[in-house]
Amino acid sequence: MIGLFFEEALLPQGWARNVRMVLDQGRLGSVEAEASTQSGDERHRIGLPGLPNLHSHAFQRGMAGLTEIRGATADNFWTWRDLMYRFVGRMTADDIEAVAAQAYVEMLESGFTRVGEFHYIHHDVSGAAYSNIGELAERIAASAQASGIGLTLLPVFYAHAGFGGRAPDRGQQRFINDIDGFLRLMDASRRAVAGQQGAVVGFAPHSLRAVTPKELNTILQLDGDCPVHMHIAEQAKEVDECVEWSGKRPLQWLFDHVAVDRRWCLVHATHTTTDEIGHLAESGAVVGLCPITEANLGDGTFNVMGFRDHGGTFGIGSDSNVLIGVTDELRQLEYSQRLAHRARNIVAGTTASTGRALFEGALKGGSQALGVATAGLTEGGFADIVSLDAGHVALAGRSGDAILDSWIFGAGRSVVDCVWARGHKVVQGGRHHARETIARWFRQKLQGLLAA
Ligand code: ZN
Repeated sequence: MIGLFFEEALLPQGWARNVRMVLDQGRLGSVEAEASTQSGDERHRIGLPGLPNLHSHAFQRGMAGLTEIRGATADNFWTWRDLMYRFVGRMTADDIEAVAAQAYVEMLESGFTRVGEFHYIHHDVSGAAYSNIGELAERIAASAQASGIGLTLLPVFYAHAGFGGRAPDRGQQRFINDIDGFLRLMDASRRAVAGQQGAVVGFAPHSLRAVTPKELNTILQLDGDCPVHMHIAEQAKEVDECVEWSGKRPLQWLFDHVAVDRRWCLVHATHTTTDEIGHLAESGAVVGLCPITEANLGDGTFNVMGFRDHGGTFGIGSDSNVLIGVTDELRQLEYSQRLAHRARNIVAGTTASTGRALFEGALKGGSQALGVATAGLTEGGFADIVSLDAGHVALAGRSGDAILDSWIFGAGRSVVDCVWARGHKVVQGGRHHARETIARWFRQKLQGLLAA
């Protein structure tokens, strides 16, 4: 058993001094405040819980920066999606594994200790099923294992190109399953993560565009307790098409037809009415906000103020992985609101510190969405811990909430010192132990992909 000692740490009850934690087989055997160090303890100045990243498409890390060129027509989400499909069309299983491993290393180095992988590429480059339907789920599991990040694998059910069961496009062939295929994929996904401590398998009906009501009902019978994730109301065009199809907006349709509860994570929910915001908050579902990707894709801005006033729960995700960073996501979330409302300190609500409100909100919502029963640094919970470099100039003289505010708004990811994921120290001095090996693998795959 390893003892860690922090002069200051953020526990569920708030900041505490002289905190001693004992790591026991990936979990926190004990967490004691006002403790004294014991011989052999590893000493650190500032300790925080690792954050969950509730929404990732890891393979998209490979195309970061490649879609920032203006095309002949106005660029938007849908022109970006065409480019993304072309990139997907070339990726082999080996490419996907290497790119995912690189994304997970970067997540860990920034302070994310668990990822919700919204996994929707299932078939080979021709669109034909692999002989093992879980081939790519196994690759994702292997990348998580190689990096050490905790995994909540969310196999995606994707069957149609648009509302009303429209036939899939050519670019979507690698994503498509019927119900039987999806059930086999679920079994294969459970097998793929079976050896990994703390791994969770949920499932994800991709969106109301990609799933018919009948299919949605069938897959919701699957498991009474695991996380259910779905993209919803990300784009204005998607809202318009849903209204055309059903007479209802996407969230309205969902609430009218499905019992949405705490198992659910509704990803984006960018375009909402006041009624929908109230309903969302009351449902107990987590809203999965992906502030950097939503900005990058020009999606729009979620109504944080209304949601906050109704006591809603949010988490954050790195989604397209165009940039991976805990503080980058949290800062972007707050800044998007400040720009929209021409006001300051919006996510905080009645809490004093914006950094604290952002960080604890993302911890609570992310843990719920990824099926982690115990959030934060508490006895029995996973030993997912981040230490910060107290010597960084951005943290000079800071303590308590000022640490979070200064880290998020005044510094960068270089402030992360060590990261433990389920008790394994995978990052030290800000660097992942396999950083060089995985980066070399990633570069080699990217050279091949981009030369093709
Ligand atoms: Zn997404």
